[in-house]
Amino acid sequence: MPPQVIEAMQRPMISHRSAEFRDFYLELIARLKRLHRTEAEILLWPGSGSAGWEIGIVNLLAPGDVVVAGVTGDFGDRFAQVAAMFGCDVRRMDVEWGNALTPQRLEQELQANRGARAVLLTHNETSTAVTNPLRELTEVAHAHGALVLVDAVSSAGGIPIDFDDWGIDFLFSGTQKAWMCPPGVVIVVAGPGALECAAQSSTPRFFWDIQRNLDMTRKGFTPTTPPLSLLFGLDAATAMIESEGLDALFARHQRLGEMTRLGLRQLRMRLLADERYASSTVTAFFPPEGVAAKTIIDRLKADFGITVAGGQAHLAESIVRIGHMGWVDDDDIEHCLTALNDVLESV
Ligand code: PLP
Repeated sequence: MPPQVIEAMQRPMISHRSAEFRDFYLELIARLKRLHRTEAEILLWPGSGSAGWEIGIVNLLAPGDVVVAGVTGDFGDRFAQVAAMFGCDVRRMDVEWGNALTPQRLEQELQANRGARAVLLTHNETSTAVTNPLRELTEVAHAHGALVLVDAVSSAGGIPIDFDDWGIDFLFSGTQKAWMCPPGVVIVVAGPGALECAAQSSTPRFFWDIQRNLDMTRKGFTPTTPPLSLLFGLDAATAMIESEGLDALFARHQRLGEMTRLGLRQLRMRLLADERYASSTVTAFFPPEGVAAKTIIDRLKADFGITVAGGQAHLAESIVRIGHMGWVDDDDIEHCLTALNDVLESV
């Protein structure tokens, strides 16, 4: 995390029912709107990214609703599972891991499921390092009259999202990824279509109720006691992002993604993601024949203090993932690639 964020989080507590909080909160919400390029509602809750799946489903959907779910990896799988747990009739579009969900595939699925109420999408599938073509997928979904619910946990703040222009209905992310903060706050964007559905939906909910949150947010407050230190951190982080500028921010992430992939190819590593949809926030690669992913991960940590991740689900043992979102620059990537080269030469 940037030092500015760490410092902001040391601020003493204030009353969350004070005018001071109200002014602070309204400004934070306004900035988050600008960073999502939206005039739709921004709602924050204490919670990790996973809460976003449930918030979307319990507010916008009802048991029995036909829902089409793009499953391009482990997180898309979980989104689909949560919808099924709440009684939705989920039609999965499973895509081989490493590939993206294409608009053509979604079109076919929606033709086969006419009247589907919603499409569940994972913008950036962190488990495979693939960015799905959100704008085009949203267009297809809307042509079929389906709502679009988007998991943007590892894309928001790193990969372009034009919420209003693309007409997304509901989108969420978590503070711990490109937003450069500790985990603990889920950031929701709810468009007019989402609010309309929430007003009609009878699915029981309390903590995650969009309307309760919105009524308080409009007045500059939160429905329950907020995680104040995290909000102070998020305020500092989003101020930094705004002063970098959204275009520069997205260009930096794109450059870091390209640098990482180029460097890995030079080291003769095979990448998991289809290059056309390769992510700008995370890159996944297969270690060379005979070298365990875990060996690379452990050696990078022990010898260089660099933390990278393994894979998830059936790829748990077979890939390594490098995160390059948020507080990351070219030097970090160069350092990581040089360290990886050293590790590979010595195993
Ligand atoms: N969705 C995506 C795309 C993610 O990358 C993650 C976490 O990495 C989640 C959902 C779940 O978020 P959390 O672990 O914050 O609950």
